[in-house]
Amino acid sequence: MVASLFYNSRDISMVDYCCVSYNNLILLKWSISTSYTRRAECVKSYDHAHTFKLYVTLETGKQSDSDSMLVSLVPTTSRKSVPEVFHLSHVETGFRTPHQPWSYYVYSFFQKHNECLNCWTHLLGMCMALNRATEFAQNHSLLGDPHMWPLTAGLITMVLMYLCSTIAHCFSNRSELVHYTAFMIDYAGIGLFGVGSVILHHHYCHDDAWVNSWLQTNAVVVSVVMGMLVCLCCSASSFLYEPPYPFARTLLQISAVVTIYLWNSVPIVLRLFQYLGAGLWHSSLDHHIQQMIWFAVAGFFFSSDIPQRFFPGKFDFLGHSHQIFHLCIIMVTEKQLDGITHELERLGTKFATMALPTFWNSIGAVILAIIFNGIVVVFCHIYVRDMLAKEKKKD
Ligand SMILES: [Zn+2]
Repeated sequence: MVASLFYNSRDISMVDYCCVSYNNLILLKWSISTSYTRRAECVKSYDHAHTFKLYVTLETGKQSDSDSMLVSLVPTTSRKSVPEVFHLSHVETGFRTPHQPWSYYVYSFFQKHNECLNCWTHLLGMCMALNRATEFAQNHSLLGDPHMWPLTAGLITMVLMYLCSTIAHCFSNRSELVHYTAFMIDYAGIGLFGVGSVILHHHYCHDDAWVNSWLQTNAVVVSVVMGMLVCLCCSASSFLYEPPYPFARTLLQISAVVTIYLWNSVPIVLRLFQYLGAGLWHSSLDHHIQQMIWFAVAGFFFSSDIPQRFFPGKFDFLGHSHQIFHLCIIMVTEKQLDGITHELERLGTKFATMALPTFWNSIGAVILAIIFNGIVVVFCHIYVRDMLAKEKKKD
C-alpha cells in the first residue's frame, strides 16, 4: 500500500511531499512525535483504499489544538469492496469506504461518489423550504396568529424531512449499523412530512362545507399514527429483507407512504369533485394537481430503478433514479406551498368564521410525531444492533 503525505508547518521550514510504505510511515511516526502514535495507527484501518492522503499540520515542540490530521477524501471504491447492505441497485462504482471517521463523511460532500448528489439535492430542498418559510414569515405571523400554526407545522416538517434525508445519505456508508439507523431517520422524516401535509391540507384546502367538520377536526390525530407507521414499515422493510431485495420490500415502503398521502389528499380530491360538479375552479387547484403529478412521478422513479436498470454502472454519479426522485420531491413541496399560498388568499376573509386551530392539532401534533417516530427509530436501532451482533458471533 502506498500513502501520500503532505506536511505543512509554520515552524518546520519544510513542505514535503513523499510516497512511503507502511513501514516508512511507522518510522516517520517515530521521527515526528510520539503524540502522533495513536493517529498513525489509525492509518492502518484504511485498508479498503489503495491510496490515501493525509494532511498533517505540525507544530514543533508540544502538541497544540492546531495539530490536526485531517483524513482527506479517501478514494471511493467498487461495489464488490463494500458490504452488501451498502449496494445500490445497478450501481457499480463510487462507494465511499466504510469505517472512516465521521468527519470524512462530512467532507465527502465535496467528493465525487454515488451518494453525493443525493446529499446535495435534499440540502438544496431544505434551503428552498427555508427560503419559502422566510417569505411566508414576511406576510404572516407564523407563531403569533393561531390560523398560521398549521402553516408553521407544515414548514417545520418539510425542513426536517430534507434534513433527515441529507443526514441519511451523508453518513449511510459509515457502517452497517449506521446505514440502517441513518435510513430509519430518513423514514422518520418522511412520516413527519406526511403528518405536516395532512395538517396543511386539512386546515387550508377544504371546501367551505367541510370546514369545522369531524374530518377536519380529527384528521391530524389519525395522521400522527399513520406517520409513525410510515417510519415503522419503512424501517422494518430495510432490515427484514436481505439483498437482493424483493419487490415486496419496495411495496411495503410505498404502501405506508401512499396511505398517508391519500389521507392528506382527501380535502383536495373532495374539493376537486365538488368544484367540477358545480362548474367552479380556483387557482390553488392548479398547483395541487401539479403537486399530485410530481408525487406520482416521484413514486415511479423511486420504485422503477430507471434509467440505471437498463445501463448498469452508467448512472452511478449522475442521473440515478434516486436523484430524480429527490428532485421530484422538491417539486412536490414547491407546488404544495404554491397551492397553500393561493389557499391563504382564498381564506383571507373567511378565517374570522373558522374555528381556531389548536396547538395540539398543529405544531403540537408535529412535536408528538417527532417523539413517536424517535421512539420507533430507537427501538429499531436496538433491534438491528442486536441482530448485527448475533450475525457477527455466527461468523
Ligand atoms: Zn433519498
